[in-house]
Amino acid sequence: MAVLARTGRPAYRLYRLAWAGLDWLYPPRCGGCEKPFTRWCASCAQAASALTETICARCGAVVAEGAECARCRGQQSLFYAARSVAPYTGSIRNAIRQLKFAGDMALGEALARPMIDLLDKLEWGVDLVVPVPAGSARRKIRGYNQAALLALPLALGCGLPYRPKALKKVKDTPTQVGLSAAERRDNVRDAFQAAGDLAAGKRILVVDDVMTSGATLNACAQALLHQGALQVYGLTLARAIL
Ligand SMILES: [Zn+2]
Ligand SMILES: [Zn+2]
Repeated sequence: MAVLARTGRPAYRLYRLAWAGLDWLYPPRCGGCEKPFTRWCASCAQAASALTETICARCGAVVAEGAECARCRGQQSLFYAARSVAPYTGSIRNAIRQLKFAGDMALGEALARPMIDLLDKLEWGVDLVVPVPAGSARRKIRGYNQAALLALPLALGCGLPYRPKALKKVKDTPTQVGLSAAERRDNVRDAFQAAGDLAAGKRILVVDDVMTSGATLNACAQALLHQGALQVYGLTLARAIL
């Protein structure tokens, strides 16, 4: 039922149709395994299936047992809950690199589909969708923000308002790769600013490609809550297994 309702949404249908037209002109390769004539092949989609292990009720990290992971027990997460589609390995990792460094918008549309399905299942009741913003330096080099390439089709597919201006990155931060959780927290502290007129009184879904320690999502949540957001949720395509 949900699928019927979703594909029936005109804006989403148009968005998908645009990429299907482009595929006809320029036959694509799978973002996960480079198989020709598909953006995201059935076997990569299957391999990158949802995280099925026991997960932390708060942040969605895979845990051996118990309701919350050690990190969430040890610190106060500012986001209400976070979930990811799949572990950050194999074809999902290849596809995210492709999205990040090749700016493949059509691949973003294909990868947003399992996120739409997951959000449907979660029934969080969010009011609007915001991508984690990229700093101006990085955006200038790449020309796009990979989180937005997922967040826009996700919002269209779920019939939710897409509000990229609700969050702004006000501090250019060095890459988080190779940093510890504490270093990541320091790195992104006060890096984001929220727009009060968009955030106040809203339940907000923040979207990113990968979640690692949750530091970025926490910093986004802090900025949004500061401007009066009711609750902040996080959804990412992949989850780094630490
Ligand atoms: Zn593939
Ligand atoms: Zn957790």
